[in-house]
Amino acid sequence: MPNYQAPLRDLRFVMDEMLDYPGHYGRLRNGDDASPDIVTAILEEGARFAREVLLPLNQVGDREGCLLEGGEVKTPQGFKQAYAQYVEGGWPSLAAEPEHGGQGLPPSLGMALSEMICASNLAWGMYPGLSHGAADALRHHGSDDLKATYLSKLVEGVWTGTMCLTEPHCGSDLGLIKTRAVPMEKGDYRITGTKIFISAGEHDLAENIIHLVLAKLPDAPEGSRGISLFVVPKYLPDAQGNPGERNGVVCGSLEHKMGIHGNATCVMNFDDAQGFLVGPPNKGLACMFTMMNVARIGVGIQGLGLMEASFQNSLAYARDRLQMRALSGPKATDKPADPIIVHPDVRRMLLTQKALSEGGRMLVMYAAQLVDVVELGEDDAEKKRAEALLGLLTPIVKAFLTELGFEATNEGVQIFGGHGFIQEWGMEQFVRDARITRLYEGTTGIQALDLLGRKVLMDQGETLKLFTKEIHKFCQAEADNASLKEFIEPLARLNAELGELTMAVGMKAMSDREEVGAASVDYLLYAGYVTLAYLWARAARTALTAMESASDSIEYYRAKLETARFYYQRLLPRTRAHAEAMRAGAESLMTMDVDAFGLGFEM
Ligand SMILES: Cc1cc2nc3c(=O)[nH]c(=O)nc-3n(C[C@H](O)[C@H](O)[C@H](O)COP(=O)(O)OP(=O)(O)OC[C@H]3O[C@@H](n4cnc5c(N)ncnc54)[C@H](O)[C@@H]3O)c2cc1C
Repeated sequence: MPNYQAPLRDLRFVMDEMLDYPGHYGRLRNGDDASPDIVTAILEEGARFAREVLLPLNQVGDREGCLLEGGEVKTPQGFKQAYAQYVEGGWPSLAAEPEHGGQGLPPSLGMALSEMICASNLAWGMYPGLSHGAADALRHHGSDDLKATYLSKLVEGVWTGTMCLTEPHCGSDLGLIKTRAVPMEKGDYRITGTKIFISAGEHDLAENIIHLVLAKLPDAPEGSRGISLFVVPKYLPDAQGNPGERNGVVCGSLEHKMGIHGNATCVMNFDDAQGFLVGPPNKGLACMFTMMNVARIGVGIQGLGLMEASFQNSLAYARDRLQMRALSGPKATDKPADPIIVHPDVRRMLLTQKALSEGGRMLVMYAAQLVDVVELGEDDAEKKRAEALLGLLTPIVKAFLTELGFEATNEGVQIFGGHGFIQEWGMEQFVRDARITRLYEGTTGIQALDLLGRKVLMDQGETLKLFTKEIHKFCQAEADNASLKEFIEPLARLNAELGELTMAVGMKAMSDREEVGAASVDYLLYAGYVTLAYLWARAARTALTAMESASDSIEYYRAKLETARFYYQRLLPRTRAHAEAMRAGAESLMTMDVDAFGLGFEM
C-alpha cells in the first residue's frame, strides 16, 4: 500500500518563512483567530486525519468503487465512517462564516488541509469538496430564505452539495443546456432534464444532497446569456428544516471510469423536481462561476496532492530498490547492487516530482493568500488587486498544476519500473486518478482560452501587468544580490518575454481570432513555468537567508536551493519550446482541410 505523510515541514517553510503567513493573518479581519497555536493544531490534526483515516481507504475505494441499488448509491467500505469523523471533527466548517455556523478561519487553512486530503484519498475528498463551492455560491447569491434553509447544513457537513452543469450534448459549451425550469405560482420552479457526470450526485454519506443546477427558463435568451441557477434538494426540507418529502431527482446510473472509483459519478434525472432560483433569472452562469472558481482552485490542489503522494512513494522506492551500479563506480559496496537513486535518470525523475510538487505548493499557498484577502481583507484597494490577480492565476492553478500532476504521477510509475504498472503498489492509481483533473472543471484547453482570451487580452493585459510588475520589482530588488544571480537574470528575461509574447499574440489576433486558440495552451504553460520560476526564486532567497543564520535545518535549506537550481536548469527551458510554438502561429494548425485529416483510411 502506498504511504503518505503530510509535508508539514515544507508547508511551514512556504507559509511562515517564504510568504510570511503570520503577518498576512495579522492583517485579515479576525485574523487573530488564526494564531500560531491554532494553525499548528489544525495542520497537525489534518495531517493525522489524512494519514490515519483517509489513506487506508484509498485503495479500498479504487478496488470496490460505488454501487447503485434501487436508486441509492453505496460508497466503498469505510467512506461513510470517515465522513462521519470528518463532520464530528468540525472540518467542513473550518473556513465558513460564523453567522452560518462556521469557525471563520481564513480559507488558506482549508486549502492547506485540502492538499492533504487529495494526496491521501482524492475520490473521498470530492464528497466534501463540492459542498464548499455550493455553500459559497449560496452565500454570495442566495436569498435570505435559501441561506437560512441550506447554508448552515452545508457548513456543518450534514448535507453535501453538487454542481450540475454537464448534459449529454453539452460540456464545455454551457450555452447548449436543455434542462428546463418552469416557474410555479408560489415562486418556486419545476426542473426537468438530464445531467451527466455529476460528482457525488448520490451517495450514503450525508442525510441530504443539495444540487446546484443550471437550467433555462421558458423565455430565456439563446445561449449562455439565458441560463439560470437553481437549488434542488434531494429531500425537500420540512417545517423544522429537516429532510422531508423526496424530490423528483434520482440517480439513473453510475459511470464506469478510468479513476477516482470511490467517487460516485452520476447520471442525474430531474423530473419535475422542485427547485428554487439562486440569483437573478438568466444570470445563473455568473452565479455558478462563484462555485466554479472555488472548484477550479480545488482541482489544481488535487493535482498538487497527487504529485506529492507519488513523489513520497517514488523516493522511498528509489532508496530501497537495488539495480545495477552507479556509472562512476559502486556506492553501496556492502550490497549486490546500488539503490536506483544513484542513477542520473532516476534522479531526474525524482527531482522533477520534487521541484513540481514543492513549487506547486508555493503556487497554491500564494493563491491562497489572495483568496484570504478577497474574503477577509480590510483594505478595498488591496481586495481589488487580490481579486484581479486571483482571476488571472485561477486558470493557471487549475490547468498547470493538473498537467504537472499527470506528469509527476506518470514519472512515479516509471521510477517503479514494471512494479509501477502493478496495482498493489498504488502508483498506477495515482496516474488514473490524476487523469481526470485535466478534464473536469473545464479542460486545459478551456482554461487556456479563459486565461489568454478573457483574463489577459480582454483587458489589454492590464491584470497581467499587475503580476509581471510584481515579478519585475522582485528582480530589481535582488539585482545586486550575487548569490541569486543564477535565478534573477533568467527570471527577468522570461518575465519580459511573457509581455512580448502577449503583445505578439494580441497583435496577430486582431486580424485572425484563431491565433488566440492556437497560442492558448502554450501560453498557459509558459505563464505557469514563469510563475513557478518567480516562486522558486523567492524560495531560493528565503533558503539562502536562512542558511546564513540557521544553526539547524541547514540541509533542508541546501536541498531547497538545489531544487531551485534543478528547476531553473532542467525544467524552465521548456519555456523555449512553448515560446517557439506560439511564435509559429495558427497557420500550420488551420491550413489543412477538415476532410484531409483522414485521407488514407476509412472508419
Ligand atoms: C469523472 C467526471 C466527473 C465530473 N464531474 C462533474 C460535475 O460534478 N458536474 C458537472 O457539471 N460536470 C462534471 N463533469 C463534466 C466535465 O466538467 C466535462 O466532461 C468537461 O467540462 C468537458 O466537457 P465534455 O466532456 O463535454 O467535453 P467537450 O466539451 O465535448 O470537449 C471535447 C474536447 O474539445 C475541446 N474543446 C471544446 N471546445 C473547445 C474550444 N472552444 N476551444 C478549444 N478546445 C475546445 C475540449 O478541450 C476537449 O478536449 C465530470 C466529468 C467527469 C469525467
